[in-house]
Amino acid sequence: MRHRLLVPGAAALSLLLAIPASAADFTPGAPGVGDTYYPESGNGGYDVSHYDLRLKYQPKTDLLEGTATLLATTTQDLSRFNLDFGLKVSEIRVNGKKATFATSGKHELEVTPAAPLEKGRQISVVVRYAGKPSELKIDDFTAWARTPDGAVIAQEPDSAVWWFPSNDHPTDKATYDVSVAVPDGTQALSNGVLASQTSKLGWTRYNWRSDKPQATYLTTLAVGKFDITTDTTANGLPVINAVSKDLGANEGSARASIERTTEITEWLESVFGPYPFNAVGGYVPNVPARYALETQTRPFYGKKAFDRGTNVSVVVHELAHQWYGDSVSLKDWKDIWINEGFAAYSQWLWSEKEGEGTAQELADYVYAQHPADDPFWKVKPGNPGAENQFDGAVYDRGALALQALRNKVGDKVFFDLLKSWPTEHKYGNASVADFVTFAEKKSGKKLAGFFDTWLFQPSKPAAGAAKRSLGAPRGPVAQPKSWKQIAATHDTHGH
Ligand SMILES: [Zn+2]
Repeated sequence: MRHRLLVPGAAALSLLLAIPASAADFTPGAPGVGDTYYPESGNGGYDVSHYDLRLKYQPKTDLLEGTATLLATTTQDLSRFNLDFGLKVSEIRVNGKKATFATSGKHELEVTPAAPLEKGRQISVVVRYAGKPSELKIDDFTAWARTPDGAVIAQEPDSAVWWFPSNDHPTDKATYDVSVAVPDGTQALSNGVLASQTSKLGWTRYNWRSDKPQATYLTTLAVGKFDITTDTTANGLPVINAVSKDLGANEGSARASIERTTEITEWLESVFGPYPFNAVGGYVPNVPARYALETQTRPFYGKKAFDRGTNVSVVVHELAHQWYGDSVSLKDWKDIWINEGFAAYSQWLWSEKEGEGTAQELADYVYAQHPADDPFWKVKPGNPGAENQFDGAVYDRGALALQALRNKVGDKVFFDLLKSWPTEHKYGNASVADFVTFAEKKSGKKLAGFFDTWLFQPSKPAAGAAKRSLGAPRGPVAQPKSWKQIAATHDTHGH
């Protein structure tokens, strides 16, 4: 019966398809890229290659105004497309011609160009806008932090919608020119290198350039009064570190931590291979936050990350992300382990190098700390769910899985994996499943069951699941010297 009804239906459909392709094929781009956790993140129908942001910011009033120029290529025939953005827009031009636009959802901007856009076409999109980012609330939250002398934007998984229009998902990476004018005596910091700086009529303009693919959430801006140190590494990489002038008692501990950036980058190169970007550094603004973020080439460190003194371990973590998270980005936010598991494990390796506890001792400690009925084991690092995306277990259980892998495949294969993954996936995107396949290929071992146990089961792996005696009963496990600093790093991500 159903089948008989289907036949005339199919005939009607083929008649519909006979409508001239020029009209029927131009459809709106999707309002999201289809992320498992954040369906509204990013947009379909185009791929951005470059962002040019030319902005002006007045700290006194929090007014941010300017123009964003996006260069993109269409990936379908588009009747219209979406940008992700929250501030007030006054004009949009597509290929130089005025477009109409409307807002929808939490942060969608629907752009209808004067004429439909064919697939495979290079387009330019110019957006003029102004607004006070601290007043933009999405789910009662603003990622824009005002400080006594400026403002900072550094948040995960979303931050771009508070300050520039974008295709806001890590799968669409692009290069950036970020130019920001601020009142004389104030600085504007962003990613990459400072290409130039000019002063006119009381305003100083800072022009930053990040010339390798960069995810939107890794693009950062800090306005304020900073003490800035510049240097070059042994292989000529520019180093730019900045510490707010008003950190008070934390100034020394913050500076002593981020001034280790060059040394840590050199060590990370020995573990992960050549550093992938055009600059390195870090900044500590006067933001009363404990978290840090791997903003590309220039990690953000909240002032409170240094409340208990120096924390070199957090610097190791954020710089490790330059390979794991920034150069090789996740495909979907459910793949967060390919960022955090490795960044956390780099802290274990640093501890091992510094003689403050081997990675095996840290693994034994984590394993022993959490009895089988601890909710810790309910969190699956391989797909933790949006609500647990930055749970401590993603970091600790995530790193534990890597120590188990090291025991399973041996040091030679394991350290080759750590180096070859960022080399072979440089500037791209990858999933947890991609890593499993990669590890199987490199080791010649079947590892799907192994990774299922360590990353995807909501339960404590049996002690014998690792080749070595991980978690085998042998009396109380001592806390490694490095543990407190390591633990202090990950009570901090996200919001
Ligand atoms: Zn991290």
